[in-house]
Amino acid sequence: MPTGVLHHDSKHRPRWRGRGRADVDLFEYQGKQFFAGFDIPVSRGRAVTTVDDAVAAAEEIGEYPVVVKAQVQVGGRGKAGGIKLADTADEVRTYATDILGMDIKGHTVKVVWIEVASDIAEEYYASFTLDRSAKKHLGMLSAEGGVEIEAVAEANPDAIAKIWIDPVDGLSESAAREWVAAAGLNPKATDGAVDILLKLYRAYTEGDADLVEINPLILKPTGEVHALDAKVTLDGNASFRHDWADYEATQERDVREQAAYEADLQYVGLEGSVGIIANGAGLAMSTLDVVNQVGGSAANFLDVGGGADADKFVSALTIIDNDPRVRSIFINIFGGITRGEEVANGIVAALDVIDISSPIVIRLDGTNADEGRAILEPHLSDGLQMQPTMLDAARKVVELAG
Ligand code: GDP
Ligand code: MN
Repeated sequence: MPTGVLHHDSKHRPRWRGRGRADVDLFEYQGKQFFAGFDIPVSRGRAVTTVDDAVAAAEEIGEYPVVVKAQVQVGGRGKAGGIKLADTADEVRTYATDILGMDIKGHTVKVVWIEVASDIAEEYYASFTLDRSAKKHLGMLSAEGGVEIEAVAEANPDAIAKIWIDPVDGLSESAAREWVAAAGLNPKATDGAVDILLKLYRAYTEGDADLVEINPLILKPTGEVHALDAKVTLDGNASFRHDWADYEATQERDVREQAAYEADLQYVGLEGSVGIIANGAGLAMSTLDVVNQVGGSAANFLDVGGGADADKFVSALTIIDNDPRVRSIFINIFGGITRGEEVANGIVAALDVIDISSPIVIRLDGTNADEGRAILEPHLSDGLQMQPTMLDAARKVVELAG
C-alpha cells in the first residue's frame, strides 16, 4: 500500500499496517508542536475552540497580522476559506466566527490555530516518508510549494527532487546540500533549507513518524526558512516509546471506530454492506478481497486478534450490528494456536448474550476445525449459517446482503 504522500486524503482509506496499533494523524498545530521539539522554526501561536478565545489569543500574541487557520486533517484549507489573514482583533472575531463550525470536505472545524503571520518570498515543499518497495526513506523537495504535491507530480514531475535514504546511513549534511541544489531552490534559501531538512529527518526518524510534510516551507524576505504548515502521521506501533496521549486523544474517528478503539479492536470503517470479523489481520484483508471478488463490498475491516474471548466477539458483533450500513456479517476464523473449538465456544457464548439483527455466515477452518464446527452445528439457523470454504461463505454472505 502506498503511504500518505501521494494520497493526502488518506483518512478514509484503510491503512493496512498488519497487526499493530493505528497510526496517529496530527492536526497542524500538533505537527508544529512536534516540529518545535526538534528545533524546526514554526510560527508562534495558540490553538483555541471559541471565538472569544481566538480574539484573546491574537491579543496575547501581540502583533498583527495574525493568521486564523482551520484545524482539520485534510488539505486545501486555504482554498476552502479556512485560512485568513487578520489585521485587527475585529477581523480575528469575524474570521474565527466564520471558520469555527465550517465544513471542509466533510470535516467540521472544532479548533482554530492563531499564529503570527509570516511574510513570504517563496513557497517550497518538503517531506519524508517510507518507500516500502525500496526499503528506504524517501525525501521529496520542490521549489513549487504551496500547492498540492499531487498536482506538481502530475504537471511537472521534474520539479520534485527525490532522495532515497538508507536508514542505516541516515542523511548527511552534504547529501542534504546536493538534494537542495537539485531542487533548484533560491540560493538564499540553501543554508536554511539544509538545516531544516536535517532536523526534519531527525523528527521523522527519532520521532517515529511515517510521514512528515511541510507545505509550504517558506523563504522569508529576510532570508530565513520556516515551516508554515505541518502534516505529520506518527507510527502507532512506536507509541510505547513516546508520550502521545494528547495526540491520541484528538484522533478523528467515526462512531464505529471510536467504539472499536475503546474495545481495543483493530477496526477500520468502510462503506460497504458486509460486516467482517476475522482472526488475524492477514485473514481479515483476504476476507475483504474475497467479498469484493464475488461482487460484494465490506462495511469494515475487523481483526479480533488471537484468543477466543467471548467478550471480544460481543464487542465486535455489537459494533458491526450497530452499523446501519451492515446487511449481513461474515465471521471468518482460521484456527491456529487458538483452536477451532475454543473460537466456536467464544462465538456461541457471545451470541448467547447479544441479539444480532443481521444474518451471520461463519467459515471455520484450521486447527480442530471439525470440533469447532460440531460446536456451532446445533446453533445454526437462517440467522447463523455455516459454509465449508471462504469462497462459499463469501458468496452466501454477499447474497444475504442483497
Ligand atoms: P493548506 O491550504 O491546508 O495546505 O494550508 P496552509 O497552511 O498550507 O496555507 C495555505 C496557504 O495560505 C499558504 O500556501 C500561504 O500561501 C497562505 N498562508 C498561510 N499562512 C500564511 C502567512 O502567515 N502569511 C501569508 N502571507 N500567507 C499565509
Ligand atoms: Mn499546506
